[in-house]
Amino acid sequence: MKRLGVLGWPVAHSRSPAMHNAALAALGLKDWYYQRLPAPPEVFAETVAGLPTAGFVGANVTIPHKEAALALADEATPDARAIGAANTLAFAPGGAVAASNTDAPGFLAALRAAGHDPAGQTALVLGAGGSARAVVYALREAGAARVVVWNRTGDRARALATDLGVEAADRPIAAELLVNCTSVGLADGEFKELPVDADALGTYATVADLVYRAGGTGLVAQAQRRGCTVVDGLEVLVRQGAMSFEAWTGLEAPIDLMRAAAARGANPDAHDPGTSDSPDRRAADPRRAGC
Ligand code: NAP
Repeated sequence: MKRLGVLGWPVAHSRSPAMHNAALAALGLKDWYYQRLPAPPEVFAETVAGLPTAGFVGANVTIPHKEAALALADEATPDARAIGAANTLAFAPGGAVAASNTDAPGFLAALRAAGHDPAGQTALVLGAGGSARAVVYALREAGAARVVVWNRTGDRARALATDLGVEAADRPIAAELLVNCTSVGLADGEFKELPVDADALGTYATVADLVYRAGGTGLVAQAQRRGCTVVDGLEVLVRQGAMSFEAWTGLEAPIDLMRAAAARGANPDAHDPGTSDSPDRRAADPRRAGC
């Protein structure tokens, strides 16, 4: 059995197992299996250390472990180092841990699939957490002319901007692209917590939301209503997942099938410690749900 999984805390809401198990089954990889790996921060390092001997060949990493995953890796890609976080681990037969980040290229792939090339453009990124770092890095690498970061806590926006060589702003600016990298949007009516009015959304050609929820987020709905091109968080999830899948298996990921499985949501399964009344599920705060 070749095992894969997603490390997070909480991770009970993750759609990654449904998405990856559908892809493994479709490609006939019958001896592969992907599961949730709930791990609180205090046991993250020892959990990762035990994975290779338990048959794991790789793992995704989500909130709150992405920085810790990079720190414990034996090797890491230059992108992951520049972003300061890893969302994908691969384990060599001897147990060595290789870290990479597919959030950044996954976001770009989703954006380009929607027909938006950020090269030469201005982008406004809301948020200054881990996903904002990956998105800012991706936009900069893709040749965006100007990337401006707004965050509720201004100091974090300024620190991110300094680290990655972009700008920070105290209020939203006009841009071709707006990307929500805050955790606002998981609950109904949360859209108003973002600093952009619904009527101002129409000034952005494309609106991308990293947050995903059944039925779509308020931001995506409001942007669609105003004729913007939209990229939803589910598509970003699928694209980053497809890239991790290809890194582990060496096979082309069946993206359409993964999208359908992710949209159907979590797939209850017997091996999954995160789907019962586990501490992970009880601790789960949907606003902090991992990918
Ligand atoms: P994070 O590191 O915890 O950062 C959270 C960000 O949200 C911070 O900038 C925080 O601002 C901001 N925030 C939280 N509550 C807010 C509020 N009420 N009003 C305004 N800003 C608020 O999280 P992350 O890893 O960047 O993830 C952010 C979201 O993206 C999560 O919902 C995550 O599930 C989702 N995500 C999706 C994908 C995908 O594949 N679709 C990938 C990565 C992440 P402060 O600094 O002021 O606290």
